[in-house]
Amino acid sequence: MLPPAAATLLAMPAETITPVQAPETVDTDSGDHDRFAHYCKKADIVRAHVTGEAITALCGKKWVPTRDPSRYPICPTCVERKAAGWSL
Ligand SMILES: [Zn+2]
Repeated sequence: MLPPAAATLLAMPAETITPVQAPETVDTDSGDHDRFAHYCKKADIVRAHVTGEAITALCGKKWVPTRDPSRYPICPTCVERKAAGWSL
């Protein structure tokens, strides 16, 4: 049996859940690479989020991943190299 509060929460319509969007930022010095999502080692991404360390993508780009990559198209260089059998 669920307590009344939990039952109410579960009954909430999905529309009340608003996806959070990262604020748009204007970068003048980080180049076009930042407009893409890059292939990286999952372990590296997890570590970067914890430590703030920069990670290296398949295309060689090094940066600290802070943005939600699902908002960007996949980096064409990363796609090419992945297709060519490259791995990190
Ligand atoms: Zn890339």
